[in-house]
Amino acid sequence: MNSREFREFGKAMVDYIADYIDNVRDRDVLPSVTPGYLEKHIPKETPVDGENWKDVLHDVEKLIMPGVTHWHSPHFHAYYPTAQSYPAIVGEMLSAGIGCIGFSWMASPACTELEVITMNWLGKLLGLPEEFLNCSEGPGGGVIQGSASESTLVGLLAAKEKMVRSTQKNNPSLSEGDIKGKLVAYTSDQANSSVEKSGILASVPMIHLPSDTKGRLSGDVLREAIRRDKAAGLIPCYVVATLGTTGTCAFDNLEELGAVCNEEGVWLHVDAAYAGAAFVCPEYRYLMKGVELCDSFTFNAHKWMLVNFDCSALWVKDARYLVEAFNVDRIYLQHQHEGKAPDYRHWQIPLGRRFRALKLWFVLRIYGTEGIRRHIRNHISLAKHFQELVLNDSRFEVVTSNLGLVCFRLQGDDSLTKELLEKVTANKKLYLIPCYTQQKFVIRFVVCSRITTIEDINCSWAEIISHANTIVPYTTD
Ligand code: PLP
Repeated sequence: MNSREFREFGKAMVDYIADYIDNVRDRDVLPSVTPGYLEKHIPKETPVDGENWKDVLHDVEKLIMPGVTHWHSPHFHAYYPTAQSYPAIVGEMLSAGIGCIGFSWMASPACTELEVITMNWLGKLLGLPEEFLNCSEGPGGGVIQGSASESTLVGLLAAKEKMVRSTQKNNPSLSEGDIKGKLVAYTSDQANSSVEKSGILASVPMIHLPSDTKGRLSGDVLREAIRRDKAAGLIPCYVVATLGTTGTCAFDNLEELGAVCNEEGVWLHVDAAYAGAAFVCPEYRYLMKGVELCDSFTFNAHKWMLVNFDCSALWVKDARYLVEAFNVDRIYLQHQHEGKAPDYRHWQIPLGRRFRALKLWFVLRIYGTEGIRRHIRNHISLAKHFQELVLNDSRFEVVTSNLGLVCFRLQGDDSLTKELLEKVTANKKLYLIPCYTQQKFVIRFVVCSRITTIEDINCSWAEIISHANTIVPYTTD
């Protein structure tokens, strides 16, 4: 493909994407395909002679779109949002166009420097303490990871190394293997699956502590677990607190957990994958009270902050622990400016890294702080509107509601809500998923799409009601 054809193909694709988003409401959110559907339509081998891009684009609509779940439909209410915005899409395009690999400052100075600057902008926008920022006097800093899962694992690996070194310093007779075999980490029973996975990948048992009836982990529960495990000869090294759990968007008591971790010298990592974006609005920052006590903090700009996947922001109070944990050098990676700017390969698992700061920069500049705040506040007010609709129908109850998530159910036995969810899902117009909270089966309703309007919420509710009416008929008394 030459540059003339690229211009044609690229422009046609921009039109295709804009049309897709403009008309995404008209598509069923859930596809009607069954496993293996695509195999029947696509040849078994790569074509020998290159094809025309028009034929390929034609097949996108004919073959691919029927198998797509439309995450950006205003009627997608499952999981949590995944961000999508035009500035971020164009940023992705430019990142692909430049196509550099920024593992060190020298490998592409702008890639590193824009990441340092945008992570400082973003940290300030969230109201994080100065010491987490690259622009502070201290050793703190921010980096873009691919996912919150990676951020949690990176934090754990750094905490593990830190604990091995400090334990060995105090007990020189202990070998690295002895210490590593005794390390333990903690999180709540509501933590995301990725937290448990980080423990598996790092070979550190991740202990799930019981949360309270509202899904929150408290300091007392952690203190008691650490006391018990230390008495048994184990070495606590890492705690993951969640701000905005996946199930119900519950917030662990960060102040209490932070106090315990600081007393015990245990690394505290905050997973605010979804809810972190709300802290761009000063009125929600009370939810991260105690953040100054943590060692690392992550949130996904690719969830609720308009930056397309992947863009997980991670800040650490002391980046030297990451560099010490992950520093593997080779002559071909060295350069004459080392030490004057971060070489981000030391802050992450892979060697290679994309120019992800471009899409973040485009979003921050083109939306501005007020544009991003408007987006977050709009989603929260749409969730409140949905909550009102539910509360106005006596057949239903709202079990919990936080930020852009409302957990609701039909009053009575769980089987009624299960039946409702099955019917809604079978009709494919909405996508909702369940969770258990307070010993009840509930449906999670999340405002996800950037383009959602109040009419869309009313329309989603009408769809839910139409199925509820077949299960529990509506009466006026
Ligand atoms: N943490 C929480 C609280 C989440 O809700 C999620 C995903 O929804 C994750 C972590 C995982 O995020 P990622 O896919 O970026 O690893």
